[in-house]
Amino acid sequence: MKTYRQMIPGEHTAGSVIPQPKEVQNGEGVFHLQNSCAILFGQELSEEAEFLSRRLADRFGLKLPIREISGHSPGQGNIVMERTKSLEDCGYESYILQVDIDGIQLEAPQPAGIFYGIQTLLQLIQAGDGQIFLPALEITDWPTLKLRGVHIDLKAQMPTFQYLKSILRRLAEYKINTVLLEYEDKFPYQSHPKIVSPLALSREQIKELNELARLLHIEIIPLLQSLGHVEYILSHSEYAHLREVPNDFSQYCPLNPESQRLFKELAAEILELHPDVQFFHIGGDEADSLGQCPRCQAKAREIGKGGLYVEYINEICRFILNQGKRPVLWHDMLARNPEVVDHLVHDAVIMDWDYYSRDDEPFKIQIYDKGGGQIITKENLSEVSEKVRSVFEPYWKCEDYPDRFNLFGYTRFFKDRDFDVIAAPSVRVDGDSGYSPTFEFHLPNIRSFIEVAARYGALGVVATSWAVRRTPWETLWLGIAWTAEHAWSPERTDRQGFERKFLQQFYGAEDQTGIIEAKYLLSKLVATASYRTPYNEQGHYWGLGAMLQEFC
Ligand SMILES: [Zn+2]
Repeated sequence: MKTYRQMIPGEHTAGSVIPQPKEVQNGEGVFHLQNSCAILFGQELSEEAEFLSRRLADRFGLKLPIREISGHSPGQGNIVMERTKSLEDCGYESYILQVDIDGIQLEAPQPAGIFYGIQTLLQLIQAGDGQIFLPALEITDWPTLKLRGVHIDLKAQMPTFQYLKSILRRLAEYKINTVLLEYEDKFPYQSHPKIVSPLALSREQIKELNELARLLHIEIIPLLQSLGHVEYILSHSEYAHLREVPNDFSQYCPLNPESQRLFKELAAEILELHPDVQFFHIGGDEADSLGQCPRCQAKAREIGKGGLYVEYINEICRFILNQGKRPVLWHDMLARNPEVVDHLVHDAVIMDWDYYSRDDEPFKIQIYDKGGGQIITKENLSEVSEKVRSVFEPYWKCEDYPDRFNLFGYTRFFKDRDFDVIAAPSVRVDGDSGYSPTFEFHLPNIRSFIEVAARYGALGVVATSWAVRRTPWETLWLGIAWTAEHAWSPERTDRQGFERKFLQQFYGAEDQTGIIEAKYLLSKLVATASYRTPYNEQGHYWGLGAMLQEFC
């Protein structure tokens, strides 16, 4: 038997499930799982039944047969999963899980709800003294946020394919239903092989990843930068003529028709391998060199830098919409140029990124004005340009407490203009130590951002995970589980209680707060290595080997 993680007998109740189920009624006794139990499934649930059977075999060595329900009473002692209409108002991911001493009944309006009921069931199982059992209870559960996502950034940290698949499986355990997949040079472009990293996924691997994501009820949102942050392309001399500024390889010239043509060619290849996606992220952030080449300078004099941006981005958005997908873009360039927001293609989805604002420190917020994100306080508010301040100050102003800010005002601003918004806090970002993310600021940032996103009707949340720091994925899960917990139910969670629950679920550790303390200590260590430029002459992000060569 392959042990997955150590189980603590007697400790698994609905209170130990991540994310915490919405409604729980505890019953009397336990249900014993043994090989005489069968998994009986209703209409369109064979994949979910097979999934449960496989997981029980992998984790507990159980070999439960699966059978389709065929008219007769399913009988006692079994796990029965069926579609129901009774929860339809709670959404397609809702479910009811009933466990009593005679069996397990799982009902949901859609297969996704059955899948999440299975994930809850798996977290409730206890094994000890040769017995495998679950407590009797009834759970009625549904998510608050429709879209619950995590960003996988392949640019600087390429996991093995096996590991990448294991990340998806673990995300599904926490009922994460979206992955924002930033390929950068790890996509096997056929039309532009020069930009493909030797570590890129193969076409077959991407198809396998899609199939796994489908089984796990995870939707992939591919990300392809359309304007700025195309260093991995423009650092190659073959593409240098597309640069906005000759000696800066970060950004396309938006008025060079070849920039758009290249984006469309690359996007078409990605869409060919991701035919079923609903969203396509076009990046669009931190286009700091906008309006610098002679042609763009002249155009910016005519319609402003904001006009230059939105004309180009609209063309990109229309291309994505014509492929039957919804474009998603980072919000910061619109925040810097609010006068053009009403000109943006309305079906675009705004991804509002803010990695620093947090409700336990409401005296500062992250804003976008002249450059990328900057932190402002009441003291330096006067440094913000009039153009930005006049639009956003009503959103920042906290009427009840004048010394504080209202946080995450951009989400409310874009919602007021009737855009769909996705909140993007962070579990790993540039300012972190190279050893562990700084959860002291990530956790409050994630929690308070999700609270605002839920209150103002955002589509959901995607926790960004920038691989620039190359912090190992294993150090990220506390932040990811915390994101999953709040995306499912944004009500405030007691952090210490959550950390204890996470230790038990993730490490099988009961009272080892030292693990969390070690994470916090590691997050305070400053990484000693820094690097001259993150891209090497082949256009690929510097690996550790290349960095060491540079410094030795
Ligand atoms: Zn230009």
